[in-house]
Amino acid sequence: MIFSSLAEKLQDTFNKLKGKGKLSEKDVKAALKEVKMALLEADVNYKVVKDFIKKIEERAVGNEVMESLTPGQHVIKIVNEEMQALMGGSKEDIAISSEPPTIIMMVGLQGSGKTTSAGKLARKLDKDGKNPLLVAGDVYRPAAIRQLQVLGERLDLPVFSMGDDSNPVDIAKGSINYASSHNCDTIILDTAGRLHIDQEMMEELESIKAAVDPDEILLVVDAMTGQDAVNVAKNFDQRLDVDGIVLTKMDGDARGGAALSIKAITGKPIKFAGTGEKLADLETFHPDRMSSRILGMGDVLSLIEKAEQSIDQEKAKKLEEKLRKNEFTLEDFMEQMEQVRNMGPMDEILGMIPGLGGAKQLKNMQVDDKHLDYIEAIISSMTPEERRDPEVINGSRRKRIAQGSGTSIQEVNRLLKQFRQTKKMMKQLNSGKMKKGGGFNLP
Ligand code: GDP
Repeated sequence: MIFSSLAEKLQDTFNKLKGKGKLSEKDVKAALKEVKMALLEADVNYKVVKDFIKKIEERAVGNEVMESLTPGQHVIKIVNEEMQALMGGSKEDIAISSEPPTIIMMVGLQGSGKTTSAGKLARKLDKDGKNPLLVAGDVYRPAAIRQLQVLGERLDLPVFSMGDDSNPVDIAKGSINYASSHNCDTIILDTAGRLHIDQEMMEELESIKAAVDPDEILLVVDAMTGQDAVNVAKNFDQRLDVDGIVLTKMDGDARGGAALSIKAITGKPIKFAGTGEKLADLETFHPDRMSSRILGMGDVLSLIEKAEQSIDQEKAKKLEEKLRKNEFTLEDFMEQMEQVRNMGPMDEILGMIPGLGGAKQLKNMQVDDKHLDYIEAIISSMTPEERRDPEVINGSRRKRIAQGSGTSIQEVNRLLKQFRQTKKMMKQLNSGKMKKGGGFNLP
């Protein structure tokens, strides 16, 4: 996940501070030096880092911190506040026109994730009760129109296209008529990108802007490109005066510099974060939550939102009932796991839990998605009878299951053991005998 290395370093630094009862000016300065190095290594813009550290130092070296009973915590609090401010303070919504249709224009370089983000945004708006129209305005990349049409089909949302031999300005204008005759209140306009910024592209985008006067221009940039993303953003903003940024590929192993520098350099807020290739992988960007994730304080609010969106409440209720009656089977185990997986990659989910944010702890936990694939394959290779009553699984059945699932007998044994432990724990929970501090064994 993005920021994992930065998070690990910062948390190490702060753990050292937390352990000290009293802090000297020297302690704080040494810690801030480590913070500075970690930020530079994460590819945060040099000037941004310098200003950031200066601000924290001004606040952290004063009496307020030195005389505090928990000086370490106090420093972390200051860093958290400044980091939030750096990313824009609070979340920023997209502008909705009082007179429909609202026009959202997506701009960005080729490959940044513009078309995908257009689809993700359409999905989000649709879920929020809007009637979005996707508009295929990228007439130069032959596959772009088809790509948008496929996204529209998957989302069951309309796509307006005039083919690839029309002028993008005409397409943008035409989409307004189409939207009003088809009852669409929001237009999401995909536009052409190039591999690099070029004059022709900018002029075309300016003409579209002048022709349809968008309510919101969203610039899509790829977090994996680091400081380049920031430079690209600066260029686009100078020409088009964008309203906000969609930072994509935050699920990758980018070091995170773009996310921390872009607001300070361009003055424009990140409004959305792309966190995967699936259409559901778009999050509203909350600077406060992002900052606490980086500092290992977790992000319980995003976790709850994700759970609400991905977990089927009906199924969850039924499962609870089964757990209470101790009728939990391996089939339920698999279903429950699938629901958790719908929420996203494991390391990302665990990263939102306070205290688990540190990449180091996650590595130790070894809850990788591959392991979940194994479990799924093993359970799929069982007969319905075996899933309902794992006690019947004898030696020869174990061998068959291991072969069928492409795993090993050890893996099968491990899963059965985990399942037994989970059941046992449920039983204890039900009878109220759960010991204090008893943990849950993750699969
Ligand atoms: P465009 O040329 O800007 O329209 O870019 P596309 O929308 O075609 O995206 C380029 C590639 O990036 C595709 O393979 C997408 O699946 C991928 N992509 C887009 N957004 C994300 C994201 O948030 N995470 C990941 N992992 N991949 C993404």
